Amino acid sequence: MPAREECLLCHAPLVYLPKQEEMACALCGGLYPSNARCEQGHYVCRASHRKQRLAAIWRICLATTSKNPLAIAREIMEDPFIYMHGPEHHVLVGSCLLAACRNAGRELNLPEALSEMERRGGQVPNGICAATPNAWASAALTARANLPLAPIKRAFLPA
Ligand SMILES: [Zn+2]
Ligand SMILES: [Zn+2]
Repeated sequence: MPAREECLLCHAPLVYLPKQEEMACALCGGLYPSNARCEQGHYVCRASHRKQRLAAIWRICLATTSKNPLAIAREIMEDPFIYMHGPEHHVLVGSCLLAACRNAGRELNLPEALSEMERRGGQVPNGICAATPNAWASAALTARANLPLAPIKRAFLPA
């Protein structure tokens, strides 16, 4: 896992400016105020960062053949866009379980299930784990009402 004080795109050190400036996002080209960029001038906006995090979850969950949700989670966490305490974990945890379920033989429309997991995990407010006694990624384990998440509990918890 690379250090977080470096650019996600080129790994150059980050530079913090005393004042905000309008910066062009290196991924989408949008202009946003920020006071941080890398030494090479890269800046990534919030929306593009979120897109990259979710893309990493999807890419690895769709490709993996592992039946081990922890191994899948670790693989996703190696992606530089995934931050240790980032809100992406609200989606990541449940997504790994769904992929492992499918790989363990459970009939599951994985793209549909991941899409629903993304919707549900995305409803958890950013930073709420710091303000409440819950780690909300763990709530993803029980975000299972209705199909297609219903099989999770039965598949992974003792009766
Ligand atoms: Zn850079
Ligand atoms: Zn952007």
